[in-house]
Amino acid sequence: MAFCTRCNLCEAPGTFATAADVLRVPCNVREFQEQVFTLWRCTGCGSIHCKEDVDLSKYYAQYPLKDQKPGFSEQIGYNNRLRLLKRHGIGRSHRILDYGCGAGLFVDFLRQNGFHSAQGYDPYVPSYRDGGILKSSYDAVVSYDVIEHDDDCRAFMRRIPPLVRPGGVVVIGTPNADHVPIERKGDPGFHPPYHRHILSERILLALGREQGLEPVAVGRRSFYDSLIPTVNSRFLWRYLEKGLLDVVCEAPKTGLVLRSPDLLFLAFFGYFVPLRDYIMVTFRNSGQYGWRN
Ligand SMILES: [Zn+2]
Repeated sequence: MAFCTRCNLCEAPGTFATAADVLRVPCNVREFQEQVFTLWRCTGCGSIHCKEDVDLSKYYAQYPLKDQKPGFSEQIGYNNRLRLLKRHGIGRSHRILDYGCGAGLFVDFLRQNGFHSAQGYDPYVPSYRDGGILKSSYDAVVSYDVIEHDDDCRAFMRRIPPLVRPGGVVVIGTPNADHVPIERKGDPGFHPPYHRHILSERILLALGREQGLEPVAVGRRSFYDSLIPTVNSRFLWRYLEKGLLDVVCEAPKTGLVLRSPDLLFLAFFGYFVPLRDYIMVTFRNSGQYGWRN
């Protein structure tokens, strides 16, 4: 284990000692909410790093999202993810892999919508741990909210091209370090110590290009953003800020919303005041690297 005090992402790596911003941010999981971590922004690339290294297995043992059930927001959000894939030519006959699928909710959603070849892989979830899944190649690989959990984001990206046929689609969704609101330490984009590195847009695109993944579309909103009341990232992030990440798996806190003028406002109008603190990049695999014939 080593502290992250030097950027492992960019060509002119900044260090903790010369950081552009330094924040002390508490963990937003109830079990660990007393613990505070140091986040710092690289002067070279604008990415944000969690300084402390920890035994993450202890933290994932209590991770609330392991028990996440599909709710109303997820149905809308997953439909937005699916529309993005369709826009890039992915249909029901295509093979899709959700890389880092967690509880597999999006895999279930795809299958329910006729994408019967959809698969999921997640080494931390027993039902999706089968490494055999990674021996196949896919028409599309999606990975939402995963790369920022990896200690080595470059190594993460290197693992993607061998999974995608040349010309296939890769979608990476992750918080965007360029716009995470540093004045709001409870913002779920920070999420220490689980989020090891929050990438700037420039670095995310560069990591893809290094692996022969050519960016073809950049969306600067969350897949949760919709005009439907309460289903937009500004409302959802603020709701998580007030209730901690655990609320994802709990009954809706209607009283909390009704007592909070800011939550009420964002429930209806959040879509129109986006933070742009999330990014979804669609890449095409050039097949230049890592392709197994
Ligand atoms: Zn950097």
